[in-house]
Amino acid sequence: MMRDAYGRDFSYLRLSVTDVCNFSCSYCLPDGFRKKPGPSFMGLDEIRRLATAFAALGMWKVRITGGEPTLRKDFTDIVRTLKAIDGVKLLATTTNGYKLAKNAQKWRDAGLDAINISIDSFNAKTFHDVTGHDRLTQVMDGVEACLDAGYKSVKLNAVLLKGINDQDLGNFLDFIETRPVSIRFIELMRTGDNGDYFSKYHLPASHITEQLEASGWVQKTREIGAGPAQEYVHGDFAGRIGLIAPYSKDFCATCNRLRVSARGNLHLCLFSEHGISLRHFLQNDDDIPALQDFVRQSLTVKKATHFLHEGLSGGTQKLADIGG
Ligand code: SAM
Ligand code: SF4
Repeated sequence: MMRDAYGRDFSYLRLSVTDVCNFSCSYCLPDGFRKKPGPSFMGLDEIRRLATAFAALGMWKVRITGGEPTLRKDFTDIVRTLKAIDGVKLLATTTNGYKLAKNAQKWRDAGLDAINISIDSFNAKTFHDVTGHDRLTQVMDGVEACLDAGYKSVKLNAVLLKGINDQDLGNFLDFIETRPVSIRFIELMRTGDNGDYFSKYHLPASHITEQLEASGWVQKTREIGAGPAQEYVHGDFAGRIGLIAPYSKDFCATCNRLRVSARGNLHLCLFSEHGISLRHFLQNDDDIPALQDFVRQSLTVKKATHFLHEGLSGGTQKLADIGG
């Protein structure tokens, strides 16, 4: 297990496989994806070497993210390859759900254990306004397909947005009354590109937790090694609610994750100034031990916390660039 200077253990790799996305979420890619110059995205062999090195260092949970990871033509091969790596015990992805209805079973069969699907609203117009796509029904069909396919965990991610979906809690609760689905409300994060948007739409997670606590939801005690989400449960509901509140006190104290961008850059924090290229270690299986030494060494300079409170969002222009 890798431990940093602040005693945090790292078990969770968030691995981006592409920056490309077909949605244009207002807080992430409001003008849609624009191609940027730079190295190509990692190929399957590079991804395999990278994950092999990290898994041997104790990173047993791997999430494939992006951009929209399922747009990779070799997405199913990526799933199969990662699942076959020694030490990868839980393989997850985060997706906008665009391709889910048709592929949920295929990806489950290829080895995907857990899935997060981004749905900011169950209202078709709001969904369209936020994502730029009139595809709520298609995405919801994908959620049901995941439930049928027997995923170990199905979660919905919703970014909390003032005046947009802040009245939608009731719809989310109705959905999880009988379905074993977790809703993850994520506080809007400030990035390099969305400063004005952030000022207009950011809403603290307490907007949700106060309503939950008033209606009998109870916060679960955090398990050892659990990530930064606060989890709520209620006896009358099959599903759960999680809150990701990066602006809350001590959020970074439970950090257990490292990120690698689709171009093979290690990001010690979602809001670090820049990534550290690992690409030259990924060209040959013989370089895996050197990659591990380099990653261990890099971790020694991971900072205690992000600097979002000071209004500094580091070098991240948008989450799609390094994998949210
Ligand atoms: N395209 C996939 C999706 O949307 O699920 C995966 C990548 S996306 C960057 C991962 C998650 O980050 C999504 O749940 C998205 O809603 C969230 N996200 C993107 N930008 C964000 C921001 N500025 N603040 C909070 N969450 C954000
Ligand atoms: Fe695409 Fe995901 Fe960003 Fe939305 S949040 S634009 S789906 S990468």
